[in-house]
Amino acid sequence: MFGSAELSALHAIVGADGVLCGASVERAYDCDAYTVDRSKPTAVALPKTTGEVARLVRWCNEVEMPFTARGAGTGLSGGAMPALGGLIISTKRLNRILQCDIPNRKLLAQAGVVNSHVSKVVADAGLHFAPDPSSQTVSTIGGNIAENSGGPHTLKYGVTSPHVLGLTLVCPDGEILTLNRREQTPDLVSLIVGAEGLLGIVTEAWLKLTPLPERTETALIAFSTVRAATQVVSAIIREGIVPAALELMDRRILEAVRMAFGLEFHPDTEAMLLVECDGAPASCRAEIERVGELSSGALDFRLAKNEDERSRFWLARKKGIGAMGRLAPTIVTHDGVIPPSRLPEMLEFVYAIADEHQVGVANIFHAGDGNLHPCFYFDDRIPGTVERVVAAGEAIMRRCVELGGSLTGEHGIGIEKIDMMPLMFTEADLIMQSWVRRAFSPGNLCNPCKVIPNQKGCIEHRRRWRGAAT
Ligand SMILES: Cc1cc2nc3c(=O)[nH]c(=O)nc-3n(C[C@H](O)[C@H](O)[C@H](O)COP(=O)(O)OP(=O)(O)OC[C@H]3O[C@@H](n4cnc5c(N)ncnc54)[C@H](O)[C@@H]3O)c2cc1C
Repeated sequence: MFGSAELSALHAIVGADGVLCGASVERAYDCDAYTVDRSKPTAVALPKTTGEVARLVRWCNEVEMPFTARGAGTGLSGGAMPALGGLIISTKRLNRILQCDIPNRKLLAQAGVVNSHVSKVVADAGLHFAPDPSSQTVSTIGGNIAENSGGPHTLKYGVTSPHVLGLTLVCPDGEILTLNRREQTPDLVSLIVGAEGLLGIVTEAWLKLTPLPERTETALIAFSTVRAATQVVSAIIREGIVPAALELMDRRILEAVRMAFGLEFHPDTEAMLLVECDGAPASCRAEIERVGELSSGALDFRLAKNEDERSRFWLARKKGIGAMGRLAPTIVTHDGVIPPSRLPEMLEFVYAIADEHQVGVANIFHAGDGNLHPCFYFDDRIPGTVERVVAAGEAIMRRCVELGGSLTGEHGIGIEKIDMMPLMFTEADLIMQSWVRRAFSPGNLCNPCKVIPNQKGCIEHRRRWRGAAT
């Protein structure tokens, strides 16, 4: 029930311009970038401070309304989708950098600050925020923390977790906790990073800043088969080279980027590797030369001559998923992990599964750490297509686990993979995960129906909404 009394209560907390509701808002906030599962929110609140977030959460508890945190809504597993409706607590206006401590290489940001903004602010000091999801020009620090996001440079610099020194959390009952990695045992920061918004709402975070590399060498390498490209990935890893980034794009992605951004490539290209090495000039140069030797069978090996060319090389990788909109109205990007040595056979499996289920698939992914992103493209208005996409995705995830990998590398479980959790975790593991959740959130109001299977009140709602946009 949401009437004038509820609206007035929210206005009293965040002001009249801090609440959104109505049909267009319900439509805009009914999913994230995983558009297969949808559910409408009751309203959206836009707090500006930790105190306002805490008051919103306490109010939700009083009226027993579910609530879900939302950053930029670029999540790819349905995490910010309000599964049982209720209040979306958006971090859109929590967008300030509060302190910048250059000598100690750290910075305090509100959760709604956009990832790439952090690096821009400290670039003149020769520093950057290393986690760089390909969505970094829009995704927020809060979303990155909740998903423990990776990115092209994860191979060398790691995922988000080691770059978060401390944070402020509004717990599911409205209590405010300030956590510092160095001062607390157990390390609760590690528990909150990657918790997908189930254990509370992060409002501020101290981020570690990393020096910009002295030298960077970036190569774009074209291959006539996907197998040849994956074999070079395995060879680079086997040699013990740790590039800063080692990314693979297949022909279908390259075609989409060509259509959208005019990317040029050798006509026989079936796969492209983007390899970036960084560090001290001599070792950086030696590494990229060795990569060139290992790629001797390639169609084309191009080394970026300057910063402009390097940015053009990266355009293909960073805008690849967005460019997929040229191929079909809907895309679903999967996220599974396998040992890099199994890449050649796994990619063949991905193409075969897509053929079997009659859906288009393109691949663009973090090849160096075995983090696959099969990207299905399709028209969700055609009856039966969504079901085939879901079945194909499940087959791929099952194979990842069979090969000794995992259900997610960086996009999280959300609602998308909740039914697959038993593939990877025993019943005892799942019970332990619910205990941890219950320790923070005795009720089921904070981002319900995500990650942990069989939550009370969720079974009958699960997949009720699955299907095309209306
Ligand atoms: C084109 C594209 C490329 C992408 N590339 C990558 C990539 O390279 N690597 C990668 O890891 N991901 C990638 N993603 C996925 C996505 O961008 C990341 O998961 C990102 O961190 C989500 O941030 P967001 O602000 O959009 O969060 P949202 O989508 O709004 O939310 C994601 C989850 O975080 C929770 N949440 C949001 N804010 C908070 C908060 N303040 N406190 C607690 N919980 C919160 C939400 O409830 C939800 O569960 C990509 C997505 C797209 C569309």
